[in-house]
Amino acid sequence: MLPWLQSYQTNLSTLVANNNLAHAMLFTGPLGIGKTTLANWLISSLLCTNSVKPCGQCKSCLLHQAGNHADFLLVDTTNTSVGVDAVRQITLFMQSTAQQQQNKLVLLANAERLTEAAANALLKTLEEPPKNGYLLLLSPYPARLSATLLSRLQHWPLAAQFDGRAQHWLEQHSNRAVPDFLLRYCSGGPLQALKMLESGKADDIATSLGVLEQFFSDKITLQDTVKPLLASEQVSLMLGFYLRQSYLPRLLQHNAERLPLAHQHYMRWCRDEQNILGQNKSLALSALLTELRRLRH
Ligand SMILES: [Zn+2]
Repeated sequence: MLPWLQSYQTNLSTLVANNNLAHAMLFTGPLGIGKTTLANWLISSLLCTNSVKPCGQCKSCLLHQAGNHADFLLVDTTNTSVGVDAVRQITLFMQSTAQQQQNKLVLLANAERLTEAAANALLKTLEEPPKNGYLLLLSPYPARLSATLLSRLQHWPLAAQFDGRAQHWLEQHSNRAVPDFLLRYCSGGPLQALKMLESGKADDIATSLGVLEQFFSDKITLQDTVKPLLASEQVSLMLGFYLRQSYLPRLLQHNAERLPLAHQHYMRWCRDEQNILGQNKSLALSALLTELRRLRH
């Protein structure tokens, strides 16, 4: 198990062993914290017919490993929204008899994608879950779930990882150098950080952050700044990160009264970037950076 999830695993193990596990649970935490990893382990535990820890050898474990267990339903949430049809499928599944005389499990990732109607329909299933039925929801954005739905789920927030342990884990799992900013950039989700590292995106971001640093230290021109930034995939995310980590703390130190103005400029630029079709991105970014640099002086 991923080192930062071991304490959750121990707690869940105890609950399973004591037959005390909640029937509807929600795992939350940043992208790449390992919600799916922990959920899959818990599902294996609940499906195994030999032990409270997945034995990996019983018929149930083998079926689950092969992705073929009739008592496990993985709800497809790859679409942008999850509607009442998916919930109907969950309800029918929960009502049917377990084929391996064990538990019945439903995993619904990206729970924030449930439509309002679907969330309401799900509430009915949550009211009276069958004795051997467990529903597991995952979401990196629990604030987007309705308060009623949240109140029916036992919430397990998986803590973001910013410490040396996660940094060390990244170093062990990649041949590439791990930039200091990466875990913070990934909101403390080490698996997401690893993905960015391996895909080379971490290098692109490091380059863009370096470009911004040079620009705000008056070492390069506006033109030499805007061009490489626009080539980067995640310009608004990266710029927001730079502002939070470097620009705003320094502005706070020297010109604190200008902080709201800087924030306003950035927010307006983000809004326009999303809403204005055919926006001249180079011009808009140039205007923002010029304003931000002016506020620094
Ligand atoms: Zn087993």
